[in-house]
Amino acid sequence: MLDLLRVAGERGISRLELAERTGLTPQAVSKITTRLRAEGLAAEAGHRASTGGKPRTVLRLVPDAGYAVGLHLDRDELTAVLVDLAGTPVAARTSPLDLGAPADLVVADAAAAAEAVRGGRPVFGLGVAMPGPLDHRGGVLHRVTGFPQWDGFPLRDALAGRTGLPVVLDKDTNAAALGLALREPGGSDFAYLHLGTGLGAGLVLGGELHRGARTGAGEFGHQTLQLDGPPCECGGRGCVEALCLAAVARGDVAEAVRVLGRVRRIWWGCSTSTGSCWAGGSWRRTRRRTYGAYAR
Ligand SMILES: [Zn+2]
Repeated sequence: MLDLLRVAGERGISRLELAERTGLTPQAVSKITTRLRAEGLAAEAGHRASTGGKPRTVLRLVPDAGYAVGLHLDRDELTAVLVDLAGTPVAARTSPLDLGAPADLVVADAAAAAEAVRGGRPVFGLGVAMPGPLDHRGGVLHRVTGFPQWDGFPLRDALAGRTGLPVVLDKDTNAAALGLALREPGGSDFAYLHLGTGLGAGLVLGGELHRGARTGAGEFGHQTLQLDGPPCECGGRGCVEALCLAAVARGDVAEAVRVLGRVRRIWWGCSTSTGSCWAGGSWRRTRRRTYGAYAR
């Protein structure tokens, strides 16, 4: 309901349209919208002519009735943003971060950044994005590439305890893909490729974020391309990430692009076999299955 109001924007949406889009009864919609108005989250936005009958009252979201904080914990940088109910960023701050520091220091830094960006405004929750692998359901980190000491750390609960806010945790690639998907409603399919100090992808299928059974969908950075290749921070050898970043470090951008091109060919090659979509789990675990998520 809140998302339909968000998408409707300033123009607003009538209760009848809300009932049609959600499949709820008009009575249920009326009950919910009465509560949203009482809590100040929604307001009347005028009337719209209807075919026959009386004009319909339209409702809109009150964007500054509440906020959410987003944190991106990257390997060397911490970004905090405050967004209103409509998803518009209203404040942001960036500070250096050492993801290799002891967990309690990183959690304290993250909580302080959230508090600073919030500036006393009412906040409903905290969304945390960081490099994987991790388990988004349990809010627990796995062997974050280059920082294996995080394995098993319950970051979601640690931050919730520290800030007193509900917290969700996801991979940064998933958070980025979801952010793009929310901007264009209508069930699109695409892959968001992150090419930074790590490589990964976020997958959106039919407008929904696809995480896979172990939050591992889109993890292509540690697919082995060269068995005797250079060692990788994950403990393997010749991974896409190791080969690509080594080429970038040498200034050989053309070779980095060639490495990525090999990944793309693998994706396309697999996607044609059965046409089913990326099965989830890590690339290595699921390489014998099929991949069809690379679109657009
Ligand atoms: Zn690797």
